[in-house]
Amino acid sequence: MSKRLSREETAELIKGMKGRIAVTTHKNPDGDAVGSSLGWFNFLKKLGKEVKVVYKDPIPYFFDFLPGVEKVEVVGEPEVKEEFDWLIITDVSDPKRTGFESINAKKSLVIDHHITAEPFTDYAIVEPEISSTCELSYHIMKLIEPEAIDYSVALPIYTGIVTDTGSFGYSNTSPETHFVAAELMRKGVDPYFVIKNLFERNRINRFKLLELVLKTLSFALNNRVAHITLYQKFLKETGAYPEEAEGFISYPRSIAGVEVAVFFKEIEEGSWKVSLRSKGKVDVAQVAKKFGGGGHKMAAGYEVKGELKEIQEALFKELALSFEEAEFKELSS
Ligand code: AMP
Ligand code: MN
Ligand code: MN
Repeated sequence: MSKRLSREETAELIKGMKGRIAVTTHKNPDGDAVGSSLGWFNFLKKLGKEVKVVYKDPIPYFFDFLPGVEKVEVVGEPEVKEEFDWLIITDVSDPKRTGFESINAKKSLVIDHHITAEPFTDYAIVEPEISSTCELSYHIMKLIEPEAIDYSVALPIYTGIVTDTGSFGYSNTSPETHFVAAELMRKGVDPYFVIKNLFERNRINRFKLLELVLKTLSFALNNRVAHITLYQKFLKETGAYPEEAEGFISYPRSIAGVEVAVFFKEIEEGSWKVSLRSKGKVDVAQVAKKFGGGGHKMAAGYEVKGELKEIQEALFKELALSFEEAEFKELSS
């Protein structure tokens, strides 16, 4: 178990960090993962610290506009050979979600916002209510050295907030989120520059993939669950990258009457990534946790091995229980 820190304590800890610092995040990095790790990388450099950012997996091309992205060391292997004095892990608290088996560091700190977080590091700050690791990071940075938050820090931090809040549309968006976004705009961030880079550089392959994936659209539990599937063969057929399926889950979720959307992604034969999205009735973090994963109330995921049919049946059984529980709560309130 980690020692849990407040924002102030985290700021003090980071201020005092000496020696070589490594920053890493979760595998298959999303906008919050890339934004927070690059934000910290650029910020710590500005403070004059010796810092490296290491990822297990390559960065999706739509994040290539972020300053510092070319400095990321994509390790590829499960072990980082170098030794560090400090390790900062952002947007994740579970060691296996970094993709690494080990990173050699004397001390470690987790900065995260997952409700299911059970950090294993020496120190951790976890705020499940906050929109994103990027928003949390901004508050800590402000306590350390507001002047060091320049454009190279503000741009990745803003980007992570945009992706984790669905462009300020999800229920994790708070007045404070908008306040932080306003401050980041004052540092020079242009919202449309971010949106254009993230969402308006689609390759045609992505649409070919979407076409195949949407053909798999199916329903369960009286149409309250809508699900889609991506098979490895779809990627081969279309030449799309796996990360180009980002956002596809919003199609099943957008259907009237659907409460939970599910995206089954084949990682390799017999191995699946399951993404869950809720409209609020069902707590999908708890569902994902039952299968060894985690996340947030409205967005969660897990990885599982087995036959798709069995994986689906096991999930729908859990979801049926969650619906029952939610309805019972509604009736008794
Ligand atoms: P995704 O469906 O990959 O976009 O993930 C949705 C949310 O669930 C994110 O906050 C993830 O960090 C979390 N999540 C996804 N997969 C896992 C997993 N295997 N273990 C823990 N959390 C996960
Ligand atoms: Mn993330
Ligand atoms: Mn996040």
